Amino acid sequence: MLRSHFGIPHIATGDMLRAEIAAGTPLGQKAQPILAAGHYVSDEIMIAMIAKRLSQPDSRRGFIIDGFPRTIPQAEALDGLMDELGRHFDRVLYLKVDLEELLRRLSGRLVCPVCQRTYPPGTAVCTADGSGLVQREDDKAEAVKPRIEVYLQKTIPVLDHYRGGGLVSEIDGMGTIDDISRQVMAAVTTSPASPLAGEVRPRSGRGGGAQSAKSA
Ligand SMILES: [Zn+2]
Repeated sequence: MLRSHFGIPHIATGDMLRAEIAAGTPLGQKAQPILAAGHYVSDEIMIAMIAKRLSQPDSRRGFIIDGFPRTIPQAEALDGLMDELGRHFDRVLYLKVDLEELLRRLSGRLVCPVCQRTYPPGTAVCTADGSGLVQREDDKAEAVKPRIEVYLQKTIPVLDHYRGGGLVSEIDGMGTIDDISRQVMAAVTTSPASPLAGEVRPRSGRGGGAQSAKSA
């Protein structure tokens, strides 16, 4: 949604990692067992991946980062990177969902292996390209609980890192996709900073990863 509204790239670190895994790259081979266990890939790998992505020309007008930073060291590294690039964030969106709901949504979720769109349980095929849907490795029940624990311990503190700058907008992630979309648009369009230079969305409200409001 944000991507099409502002015409800026949606940089989803989870999708980037899964693409590496699917392509069987060295990074992918390293990341695969870590994600399957519900853990976080190391800060170094994540930071290097983001740095490379932000250096691409399509991010010059702005970007949405989804799924990063998930830890304080990642947030600090990202601050340094943004300084180097002469950029700043306009908004940090925190999608708040209660834990039971989070568990329910994550463990029932299906994903299109081709375009990565996510769907609620019971959906058969992707509406965009007709592919059969699958469950992601890291959405399987055994990975979801550790993901949530890691999220509470490592990612929740990231919010305070950004709260200091008055950047955080809390979004109620319990409503419908439409409700969430409305709140997200209101938060980003009433941004105190002038032009949209980039947003970061720590994969908030939803466990160690996941996007409640699809920004597709
Ligand atoms: Zn698809």
